[in-house]
Amino acid sequence: MNEDEYADPWQYTDKDNIVLNCPHCGFKILHRVMGSTIDDPVGVPSLVLDGYEPFADPLRRFQLLKCRNCCEFTLIRQQKIVDTSTTEHWTEGEIVWPVINPSLNVRIPSGLRREHAEGMLCLRSGAYTAALVMVRRILEGVCSQFGFNNKTLVQNLSAMEQQGLIDGRLLEWAQTLRVVGNTAAHYTNHQVGREDAEEALSLAEALLEYLYVFSVQFEEFKKRNAEKIGPKP
Ligand SMILES: [Zn+2]
Repeated sequence: MNEDEYADPWQYTDKDNIVLNCPHCGFKILHRVMGSTIDDPVGVPSLVLDGYEPFADPLRRFQLLKCRNCCEFTLIRQQKIVDTSTTEHWTEGEIVWPVINPSLNVRIPSGLRREHAEGMLCLRSGAYTAALVMVRRILEGVCSQFGFNNKTLVQNLSAMEQQGLIDGRLLEWAQTLRVVGNTAAHYTNHQVGREDAEEALSLAEALLEYLYVFSVQFEEFKKRNAEKIGPKP
């Protein structure tokens, strides 16, 4: 691979090379096609370009790609586009693996899920500073959802701890996320790395799961068990 390839990788796209935003290193770069298979089309809706008749069985193609920058592997799925040309056309690759945007539990308020999804989008696009800012917005959203609207985030998080909504360890997580989010929101000449952004988003996700999913599940579990056992004699 020569330097020109980095300068304009698109011109090198062919059947053995595809340009993709690498979900591992964040670079939009050429990926080498390591393997390819065409899947049974049952149940796949037709994709048709304007003005052409639907084709009965559009095909799905799976391709295993290797990033030319970080050498990690990614699996993509494409659908065949039906047109009258003699050359094959496929849709842009949709990343199947690694799973880069797992959907959060529906018990988490939709507004917070949306903030998290935007954070993941920043991460995928290599906008790591912006991803950390989204983490801070998630924390603010959590406090607001629980009715804490003090002047500062520090006050809100402390109030949540005092009312027993989060314990000491979770408060420490949240305060750390708050600090990194603050750093990202102001110009400091400090570059945010992918690892920091990825871990901050994971911690924010764990916090959401704890508050809206596991705490509720545990209460339900306790209630069911209390009903089964019945009142103490
Ligand atoms: Zn890569």
